[in-house]
Amino acid sequence: MTPARTPTASEDAYTAEPFVPQRGGLAALRKAAADCHGCPLHRDATQTVFGAGDTGARVLLVGEQPGDQEDRQGRPFVGPAGRVLDRALDEAGIDPAETYATNAVKHFKFTQNPARGKRRIHKAPTLREMTACGPWLAAELALVEPDVVVTLGATAGKALLGSSFRVTRQRGTVLEEDVHGRCEQVVATIHPSAVLRADEADRATAYAGLVDDLKVAARVLG
Ligand code: SF4
Repeated sequence: MTPARTPTASEDAYTAEPFVPQRGGLAALRKAAADCHGCPLHRDATQTVFGAGDTGARVLLVGEQPGDQEDRQGRPFVGPAGRVLDRALDEAGIDPAETYATNAVKHFKFTQNPARGKRRIHKAPTLREMTACGPWLAAELALVEPDVVVTLGATAGKALLGSSFRVTRQRGTVLEEDVHGRCEQVVATIHPSAVLRADEADRATAYAGLVDDLKVAARVLG
């Protein structure tokens, strides 16, 4: 697959756009994304973690970025948060096998404190990095053509809906939005990792909220 034009990524213009092939399905996109140098995040991560799942899915799920396990295994949502997500989808009436899952940013961003060993601590991507990675998400949306897009967490919401997005204000309703030039029905909710991070006393409530929001997405499907 030939890239659209010669890839360049200057400090001034981070973007994945030159790396995105103009034709081809998921395999072609994934192969091209493996060599993306559209922003500096590829330098420290193990590999590109491209979206995965059913390209004929009616539900497209968008998280923030790969986590530690996803970075090592090369697939999105394979860690503990992914297991929470699968359980919540199932409870909401959405078969996880009939979804397509991806992240707004395809490389794992992290920091390491040498004093605390080799543990990699998740670091949120900047708006510039999310914007740089946007052409991959645009290509995935064009490929899958979902009936509903579910954003998981504040960062994914901002990546799709703009920097004024607030998950607490906009979650659990059907939003009609222009996303990368396509009119999409979007349902926002929390990231499943927020359930894992919640205090034990609040965890059940956080999980129930996630399921309730996913039920809103399920209702879009009819
Ligand atoms: S984060 Fe996105 S834009 Fe940056 S190098 Fe990775 S795939 Fe390319």
